[in-house]
Amino acid sequence: MDTKAFKRSLNNSDNYHRKGFGHEAEVSGQMQNEYQSNLIQHIRDNGYKLQRGEVTIHLAEAFGFCWGVERAVAMAYETRTHFPTQRIWITNEIIHNPSVNQRLRDMDVSFIEVVNGEKSFSVVDGGDVVILPAFGASVQEMQLLNEKGCKIVDTTCPWVSKVWNTVEKHKKASHTSIIHGKYNHEETVATSSFAGTYLIVLNLQEAEYVANYILNGGDCEEFLTKFSSSHSEGFDPDRDLERIGIANQTTMLKGETEQIGKLLEHTMMRKYGPDQLNNHFLSFNTICDATQERQDAMFGLVEDKLDLMVVVGGYNSSNTTHLQEIAVERGIPSYHIDSASRIGAGNRVEHKPLHRDLEVAENWLPQGPIAIGITSGASTPDKVVEEVLEKIFELKAVAQAL
Ligand code: SF4
Repeated sequence: MDTKAFKRSLNNSDNYHRKGFGHEAEVSGQMQNEYQSNLIQHIRDNGYKLQRGEVTIHLAEAFGFCWGVERAVAMAYETRTHFPTQRIWITNEIIHNPSVNQRLRDMDVSFIEVVNGEKSFSVVDGGDVVILPAFGASVQEMQLLNEKGCKIVDTTCPWVSKVWNTVEKHKKASHTSIIHGKYNHEETVATSSFAGTYLIVLNLQEAEYVANYILNGGDCEEFLTKFSSSHSEGFDPDRDLERIGIANQTTMLKGETEQIGKLLEHTMMRKYGPDQLNNHFLSFNTICDATQERQDAMFGLVEDKLDLMVVVGGYNSSNTTHLQEIAVERGIPSYHIDSASRIGAGNRVEHKPLHRDLEVAENWLPQGPIAIGITSGASTPDKVVEEVLEKIFELKAVAQAL
């Protein structure tokens, strides 16, 4: 499929909407009520610190809803207002936050079900309205919905679209896109659908394996087994790594994306010589500002003297997991929770340790005065962070009174 031509024709279709519908004022008031928090604003205004009882809160200087997420949620709200009686679907979670997704369900927005690992679009009729989430949708899904005659409301973050343009440029120049991301993350699935030849690397270790293959060759079969879910059809490492370009899932660790870019640039320079680099390597800056700011703020926060860290965000949220990674690397006890309901009475918390399933920790809040670092992922409303803080204050107050 000529993905670029398809996207161009979709942009010109009356059934395709990439902007709101003129209900900004109404929606902004609604979102303010549902997602903003006076307490969090107070902490911001107070130099990102708050002391209550035995608890001192250190808030990251950038956290929570990013611009792209706020825009996507507002567009979904506007869609409901604009099409009050139509059936509205969304192809995936609008963002990775359970309370926001639940709010959309309450507004009678239905989520496309996944049956046997495949999304079941048979329930969608022409004339229905279908929202594409902040991290986008694959070009095949867009094509299917367009052919059905649906009204498509595309909330894809412009930063994600920028990455799609990048892989289109790689394709035009006959370069393979090396995408730093998670092969099964919705954003990377969408990005790879716009790419021509591609290979997805999860981390620096996988990129080093690729670099070594480029320089020294290796076992093609082993390569294809290692990346079995992460390459385009018919990928041949002996042919398809001669000309490469870098792209990324916007929420990966910024430093790692940069390291991978430098490693592969250096690799191509060694293999083909500096004068030939431009014929073999392409790189455009596609790291999203919001991801960068939240990660930088987290690096600042872990410099404080903290007893523990609480990272608030959806369990399937990639950017939240990366924030947690930063705390864990510094050896700070860190608890990733998705809502205040994970904090129970009796000093217990149900949390998700890095790369593991949910666990319950007992006595997680130490006795006496404590300093807690708090941050939240780009899809977490401030209201959820407030609820978490109130629960902690309450638990510590009860413990102090005993
Ligand atoms: S994290 Fe960045 S790319 Fe993702 S939605 Fe937010 S602004 Fe857009």
